[in-house]
Amino acid sequence: MYRNLKNLRKCWLLGLVAVLIYSCGTTKIAQPSDVAPVVVDMDLVNIVDDKVMVTVDPGPFSSDNVTFYIPKIVPGTYSVDNYGKYIEQFKALDYKGKELKIERLDDNSWHIANAKELDRVSYWVNDTYDTESEVEDKIFSPAGTNILEGENFMLNLHGFIGYFNDLEEVPYHLHITAPNGLVPVTTLVKEDVNAEKPGVDTFVARRYFEVVDNPILYGKPNTETFMVNDIKVTLSVYSPNGVYTAAGLRGSMEKMMAGQKKFLGDINSTKHYAILLYLSTMEDTDASGYGALEHHTSTVVVLPEGMPKDRLEESLIDIVSHEFFHIVTPLSVHSEEIRNFNFNDPKMSKHLWMYEGTTEYFANLFQIQQGLISEEEFYGRLMDKVANSSAYDDEMSLTELSKNVLTEPYKSNFVNIYEKGALVNMALDIRLRELSNGEKGVLLLMKELSKKYGENIPFKDEELIGEIVGMSYPEIQVFFDDHVVGDTPVDYGELWSKVGLHVISESVATGYFFDGEIPFIDVDPKNLNEVFVRQGITLSSFFKDLGIQGGDILKNIDGTKITLETIRPIIGESFGWTPEKDIKLVVVRDGEVIEIKGKVGRPTLEVKKLVPIEGVANEQQELRISWLKG
Ligand SMILES: [Zn+2]
Repeated sequence: MYRNLKNLRKCWLLGLVAVLIYSCGTTKIAQPSDVAPVVVDMDLVNIVDDKVMVTVDPGPFSSDNVTFYIPKIVPGTYSVDNYGKYIEQFKALDYKGKELKIERLDDNSWHIANAKELDRVSYWVNDTYDTESEVEDKIFSPAGTNILEGENFMLNLHGFIGYFNDLEEVPYHLHITAPNGLVPVTTLVKEDVNAEKPGVDTFVARRYFEVVDNPILYGKPNTETFMVNDIKVTLSVYSPNGVYTAAGLRGSMEKMMAGQKKFLGDINSTKHYAILLYLSTMEDTDASGYGALEHHTSTVVVLPEGMPKDRLEESLIDIVSHEFFHIVTPLSVHSEEIRNFNFNDPKMSKHLWMYEGTTEYFANLFQIQQGLISEEEFYGRLMDKVANSSAYDDEMSLTELSKNVLTEPYKSNFVNIYEKGALVNMALDIRLRELSNGEKGVLLLMKELSKKYGENIPFKDEELIGEIVGMSYPEIQVFFDDHVVGDTPVDYGELWSKVGLHVISESVATGYFFDGEIPFIDVDPKNLNEVFVRQGITLSSFFKDLGIQGGDILKNIDGTKITLETIRPIIGESFGWTPEKDIKLVVVRDGEVIEIKGKVGRPTLEVKKLVPIEGVANEQQELRISWLKG
């Protein structure tokens, strides 16, 4: 479960687009006739059928034809999600409250004729968490929405609030009526409570992008605030059964972020950062997409409430550190495609290897550099990434993957950007250090890039690699031509030897049916009476010595017919088996019944480990030290 969870983490994050700059709409916007803000009202008190009523009042239009959009895609998810599918009973109303004619153009857009008469639009919003198990293209939970009357609202605002064409740069005022006892946590600017409207929270965004970039979590108070150098960090936790508190999780987050800040040094960052943690009950009607989505000044994290504390903390460290490192890229270093993000007609950048790969690499590297994990643990993580990436196309150019990530076959290789993308950054880091006597690595490169570009200056997608080569060494062009733009796989063996490491095979003790918590066998969810040996994993000596193969269906063990029910007590007994015990099995392989007899033996598992080479030359040792110590 834990390993799966790790593999599922996608992070999604990128996000970003930049810019905290306020490019006020006055000069650019032809309509509306003045720069009245777009005013949004959301009612979280009067929920009907699990839906929230939203009205959006744009101010007067000077043109007759206007289109209202709900995002098709948001930054960081790299998938087309059509948030408009969750909108119902869309109405356009004139100043007398009469309905105007509308035409729904597709899932996410509504055309309004006679827009000069338009006063406001209104619609009901359904949430995504409780329908995840029913829909085919479910929205990744950290980008999704939750409406749980009186208890919790996960307001990823792109799911609730849309925009009119040409009004994306106009300020937004949000008036949210919330139930007593629920408090909002967000990095959106909140105005003081208006005495005339008690119970209404008012938030202000300078443009539509800021609305999307600042989710709000409403829940019962469960929040901690602490300082990491000059950054104010707010940790807010929604734990439906009260299992976890922000106070209980604060310590590990504080330690981790202090390490991140130390690792980053003088890179500028936000002054306020919020971690919005939603813990799922794991029931069918709750969130099931575990991971996080990044924003400029906050992150939404979704994990199961049922995780034990040490696992939860470990997952939070890996996930939140990744999200927080996005302040380097793409928050600071990003291309024009990201800066001018189009919510309904997205253009993808070629540089996910950096936005996600560098970020994921740093999220692991800082932990070894800051002493949060051991060398052994760090090497284990690298080996996991090598193993995980083998499930994807190793000959797919990373820039092609990035540019075309919304379509197949690239889409199904996307997750490899967190595996191979991180490893390619490691290879680049080691190559840079090799060329610079250990002086210069990827972190320094990112610092130089963020000085040159930074939050307000995007790079041209075509020019980034040339810039990097210019800032480093001509040999780096070859590296990019081969492993980032080109399709040449990284030779990990060669890479390890540069830093005095090699992979050894070690035989370790394991169980008969489980290696720790990872089972060697599984059950067909459609047929609980079919227990089979898992494929695509390394089997222990117990299976190998008896000649049992992955995919074999276990029919009978020592005279007992095998089902999900009957295998359980056998697994229990197996903990007491001695190597001399005789065993008789019947398995079915490709329709053929096979009888097997033998001793159970002492089960062992061959594992590959990355370890230092003894007596290696100083040069390799020094390169390794510069890599691991920074
Ligand atoms: Zn990410």
